[in-house]
Amino acid sequence: MLCQRCGEREAEIFQTQHLGEKSYTRDLCPACAKLDYGVFLGALLQSQAPGAPPLTSQEERELRRVLDEAAPPEGG
Ligand SMILES: [Zn+2]
Repeated sequence: MLCQRCGEREAEIFQTQHLGEKSYTRDLCPACAKLDYGVFLGALLQSQAPGAPPLTSQEERELRRVLDEAAPPEGG
């Protein structure tokens, strides 16, 4: 599966966001994920790693904020 942003590199970051009954998936290569998530890429990867410790409340808030900004607008 190719990166949804650049369409050139193989996606390695798979993020699913649920908004109400809808869900959006974002498949990004590490380079694009870094652009989107910046310093929180580490936290994002951590949250997806098996057996990883839970995110801190601050990391969770920031992750939620970034994902909210990344979601497609309501109502199209
Ligand atoms: Zn990309």
